[in-house]
Amino acid sequence: MKTVSFVIDDAVASIIRAPLVTPFRIATGQHDELANVFLRLRTGDGTCGYGEAAVASHITGETIETTLANLQAAASALRGRRIDDAETVCREFAPAFAGNHAGLAALEMALLDLSSRVQGIPFYRLFAPVAARGPLLSFATDITIVIGSLEQARATAQQFSARGFKAFKIKIGKDEELDLKRVLAVREAAPDSDLILDANMGFSADRMLAFLERLGAGGARPALLEQPVPKYDWDGLAAITSALSGSGTLVCADESVGSLADARRAIDSNAVSAINVKFMKSGILEGAEITRLAASHGMRLMLGAMMESALAITASAHFAAGLACFDFLDMDTTFFIKGELAHSPYLDDSGRFDLSSAGHGIGVEPRFA
Ligand SMILES: [Mg+2]
Repeated sequence: MKTVSFVIDDAVASIIRAPLVTPFRIATGQHDELANVFLRLRTGDGTCGYGEAAVASHITGETIETTLANLQAAASALRGRRIDDAETVCREFAPAFAGNHAGLAALEMALLDLSSRVQGIPFYRLFAPVAARGPLLSFATDITIVIGSLEQARATAQQFSARGFKAFKIKIGKDEELDLKRVLAVREAAPDSDLILDANMGFSADRMLAFLERLGAGGARPALLEQPVPKYDWDGLAAITSALSGSGTLVCADESVGSLADARRAIDSNAVSAINVKFMKSGILEGAEITRLAASHGMRLMLGAMMESALAITASAHFAAGLACFDFLDMDTTFFIKGELAHSPYLDDSGRFDLSSAGHGIGVEPRFA
């Protein structure tokens, strides 16, 4: 990243809430509304950088209160400060956010957004491509079918298939018999689409393999299976990966990999064939390190998100564009937040991002009260 100097004149953290279209339900819990912590940094000439922390207490154990307190402390430490290199300042603050990676992601997002705005470049320019190719400015997200009834799964798949979505990520892991019917219904409603299954740790290795066998007998084979077993069950992950080797179904770690150390373990143990990277699990800079490490070992990569609004999702889209190495993009929460698509400058109704017109920074201004 390039060095650029600026002075932070004002910094403020606050909670912004927004209603969802439908509860976002997974095997381990659910979101009923968006309630995220935002950070705004401003220079003397009025240029602003924005960051967002999406706190998923039922997944990471972080709370909104702690995240707000940490970001308010960082905001007061940053007021009046001259920033010579945004990345160095991100690393300086990281220890204060130990155990609060959503908070760290918000701080990094705001500093890097401001830095790229001051430099007059799009946010994605801060991330050099992993391979020689890149940046990759246009790509499509999947859409999630949350835990729910058979009819809900079928209707959602029909609706989003008609809009042009080509990848469906189905949440499973609460009720195997119902899950089986739901996945087959999605396959039927969107026959030419990729299926991704996300069990959010809801199976054992044996039960997962038996489930996939029944699914295969019904004519459905997922392109990717995400986090079938509990996060520390590395043996279970390895057993599933070994059993599915050559089958065309990748096994992806999500909850199991939140840090660079976790990624090293996943790679060294051959436990998975793919890793889901998320800002809210590791922060942005460590997320980039995880991505580069995994790519250098031939791992496939997914870029995912928590319940994030247009700001953080668009920042992730820049990250995907810059690094240009993600095989699976799971950045669909805009479609779960009422009215949010209208605030997403580079995302269309069919789930396609196109950053070729991106100006300075991330390009999204959240609605601060
Ligand atoms: Mg997941």
